[in-house]
Amino acid sequence: MLLIEEKYRPVAEILFSTGTCPRCVLRLCCVGFPTPYRLPYKDLMGELQKFLAPCGEGADDEDNAPPNKKARLDDSDTCYAAEEQSPDTSGAPEICNLCLGILQHHCNAEFVKKIFHKVHSAGYEFKDFVFSVSLPAQLLVREHCAWLQAQQEMRKQGRVLEKGDIIQLKEAYKWIIHPKISDELGVQAVSKSVFEVGVVFCHQETDEDCHFLANVCKDCFKPARNKQSVFTRMAVVKALEKIKEEDFWRQFPWPPSSPKTACDVVDMQCNHASVFVAGRYNKYSRSLPQTPWVIDGERKMESSVEELITEQLISVFRTDSFNFSSSGREDVDVRTLGKGRPFAVELVNPHKVQFTKQEVKDLQEKINSSDKIRVRDLQIVTREAVSHMKEGEEEKTKCYSALLWTEKNIKKEDLELLDNLKELKIVQKTPLRVLHRRPLAPRTRVIHTMNTKYVDEHHFRLYLKTQAGTYIKEFVHGDFGRTVPNIGLLMKTTADILELDVESVDVDWPPALDD
Ligand code: ZN
Repeated sequence: MLLIEEKYRPVAEILFSTGTCPRCVLRLCCVGFPTPYRLPYKDLMGELQKFLAPCGEGADDEDNAPPNKKARLDDSDTCYAAEEQSPDTSGAPEICNLCLGILQHHCNAEFVKKIFHKVHSAGYEFKDFVFSVSLPAQLLVREHCAWLQAQQEMRKQGRVLEKGDIIQLKEAYKWIIHPKISDELGVQAVSKSVFEVGVVFCHQETDEDCHFLANVCKDCFKPARNKQSVFTRMAVVKALEKIKEEDFWRQFPWPPSSPKTACDVVDMQCNHASVFVAGRYNKYSRSLPQTPWVIDGERKMESSVEELITEQLISVFRTDSFNFSSSGREDVDVRTLGKGRPFAVELVNPHKVQFTKQEVKDLQEKINSSDKIRVRDLQIVTREAVSHMKEGEEEKTKCYSALLWTEKNIKKEDLELLDNLKELKIVQKTPLRVLHRRPLAPRTRVIHTMNTKYVDEHHFRLYLKTQAGTYIKEFVHGDFGRTVPNIGLLMKTTADILELDVESVDVDWPPALDD
């Protein structure tokens, strides 16, 4: 059953007799059900011929079958029989002038096998997949041409044919190919999935089909830096919406030429959506930067927190690349103690994505084989959850401990003064040491509490609870007056910081795990 409504008969006739494949005939005749499209090519061809033959006459009747299609079918012993084994090319049907072979060659068993091998050899883990197709833009021009022609046929009957009524090539293609790929891969094709199988088609032979549109609608085709050609599908759609029917016919007369070759597959790729992993890290080294320290292409430090964590993640998730982020950062010589600093890693295009809790635990242990860092609460999280880490970061508090030196002898009153200061507001201009990176307007920060512990005449420990984003080193030495007040100013001496540790980053994300 073709399910072509009687009113579309003239449309089917004119298309079929001018080099359009039976599946595209169904599309232009607005057949909105997948079943007829899925018929084997040979059967569909036969059905269509039967439909187009006048009542009581067979499809073989010389006078009634469309002449060039007739020739195509009767030519010697043309054989479409073994369709599922051999491609639709058996008997070499002409290439359809509307789909350029997509609905003929690129949905047969051989093509589906190619997709299967590509996906299989890429070695991804997935539960379902979305199949995405990129089609050459000239298909739009050819389709527009066929639609205008079909519209003319319908007008003769006093009917209208909206462009939106005809079935999109992409949709028909998916109707045919989805079940076939699903069968091969053993999982469902769905409309939304984290795993994507993408195919890009092109057709050089007809690439110039769109070019006339540039003269009609210059505004539609503006060069963009990231596009190879100005003839993007979007631009062509826009131009086709604007062009008047008579102008179109002048440039692109009916029927569209029959191509010699079918579309080529220029790219076939698999991609998995990013997976996010979060946790907290401690850093025990005073010579380890948070991120790779490279100046003018030269590495200044052997490793980094980022590398020690992500090396293991990359190899286990088998990923292409990653993005590391954290709740604030510490200087190379600052340790991060306590429960550690929250971090998250986006793993781009991971191949392995399914892990048990134990496997994640094992991964954490692997990372922890380094003596410079230690990770806890390692877990797989959602993209949305990662944004919690950055939310309200400014309002959060951080606790530090520092070893300070003062020029003058430390007196008991000096330390008491610091102990008694609560909610001290300070103003910090961007520190000289980071000025090259991010010059900002002076900002106010709050030192919530300070506690001191006398070490000797020139040294004491300072424990601070501050608003996130406070520059602690500058608060101690003053940064040439760029931070006021500062410890030196408060104690009326020159002060410097010898050691700094982050004791806690009070962001309660990611959630702590029991172990
Ligand atoms: Zn076609």
